Parts: sequence; C-alpha cells; structure tokens
Amino acid sequence: MNRTLTILAFGACVFAGLAAPAQAAPEMSLTRFDCGTPPAPFALNPRFSDTFSYGDLKLQFVFSCYLIKHGDDYLLWDTGHAMTAPNVAPKVSLVDLLAKLDVKPEQIKYVGISHYHADHTGQVASFPKATVLIGKGDWDAITSPNPAQGVNFKPFEAWIKGESKVEALALDKDVFEDGSVIVLRTPGHTPGHSSLLVKLPQTGAVVLSGDAMHFRENYDAFGVPAFNYDRAQTVASMERIKKIASNLKATIIIQHDARDVEKLPAYPASAK
Ligand SMILES: [Zn+2]
Repeated sequence: MNRTLTILAFGACVFAGLAAPAQAAPEMSLTRFDCGTPPAPFALNPRFSDTFSYGDLKLQFVFSCYLIKHGDDYLLWDTGHAMTAPNVAPKVSLVDLLAKLDVKPEQIKYVGISHYHADHTGQVASFPKATVLIGKGDWDAITSPNPAQGVNFKPFEAWIKGESKVEALALDKDVFEDGSVIVLRTPGHTPGHSSLLVKLPQTGAVVLSGDAMHFRENYDAFGVPAFNYDRAQTVASMERIKKIASNLKATIIIQHDARDVEKLPAYPASAK
C-alpha cells in the first residue's frame, strides 16, 4: 500500500469509528451463590495470621460463588466446593442454582477462577464449554507434572488435556473489553491469585476478593495467613484493592466473610 492509500485507509478507520452509532450499555447483574456449607466457627490464630494477631477471635467462614451477567454473556466467578467434599459440600449444586435463574451450563462463556484451592474450584468440571480465566502462576501449578499439595488440579482435566479452553492470565483482563468486568492480578495467597472488579450500572463498582484477604480484620490490618505463597505480594495486593476501593468508591466483598454476604441481595435476587 502506498503512503497516500495508507493515510486514506487510516482516515476511513477513524471516520468509521466516529460515525458508528453509540452502543447501548449492556444489561448487567451480579448474583451471589452459597457454594459450600459453613464449618463451625474456628480460631483464626495461628493459621490465618503469621503474626498471631487475633487473640482468641473465632469466625465462621462462608463459601461464595458469583454469576455476572453482561448482555447475553455470563461469567461465573469461582465454583465453590465439590458436591462430594466432606462436611463442607454445598447443599445445592451450581448447575441447579443456575437452573433456577434459567441459565444453562453451556451459556456460561467464562469461568473466572480466583485461585487453585479446592473451595474455589470444586465444580468447574460442570462447565466444559466455558473458557477458564485464571492467573498464569496458578495455571502453571495446576499443569505441573507434580502439582503441590493444595493445588486442586483434578477438576481441570478437560482444560489440561486441551479439550476445553483456558486463558492463563499474566496481566489483568478486561473480559468484555468495555471496562465493566476486569480480572485483577492480586498474587500472594497463591502465585497467580486474582480478584474481580465489576462495575454495575446502578450499584457501582464491586470487588470480589477471592482470598486476597479472608475476613475484615485481616483486610483492615494487612494480616497475612501463615500458609500464603508470598507475604510481600499478599500485602501489596491488599494495598492495591484498598486503593481501587478508594478511587472507584468500590464495595469490597470478602468472599469468605459471612458479614459481607448481606452486601449483595440474597439469591435468587441480584445486584444491578
Ligand atoms: Zn478460599
């Protein structure tokens, strides 16, 4: 292409961009699911603080998954415990929870995985048609010839074999390319840990924590669980989330904190 043609083509592209009709904003919603049965309250020291911060404080953890609707597309964020998990299995499977919302498994375009632990990955195999979005560090751990203890690789068999699609994310991912749903790199709990930013038309910005932090006290005081992969990364990721919260006036939802469940409408209702 000679120079004049190149300039003409470039001009046409710019003009086409300007002339395109404004796209209507897609309908969006965020629904929370119970994805496990809470165990009895337990003492947080020493497992959930490497500085023994919490005295005798006990908390009951909940297990959460989320459905994000974006126009005709759906993203599922985390898949909870397996239905066969001892003691903590969900009462109702994700497939059945979705059915009540008239969503079939094959309509799930993306399954975003915060990290490779069993309480976030247990039911991923129910969505073989979905593209899995997962941090590269976690995907590398899942596909390692000898996965480390705690890496719940088994339900990813179809993705490991290449029968299903996966995007191993080295950076943040703007899922629908309009800034409304962004997978955030928040490593530290695991090597490729991620959180999710969702900008809802009415509710505003929401951050789903994954396990960047496990409960409010540990977020407020930069508490680091003793079993985390990397202490400095954990603190940096919490700092990132706090800055996003302040800049976007975002609602922070700590997925394991029972006190954060009520920040969203109770299933089957959804935040818009
Ligand atoms: Zn967890």
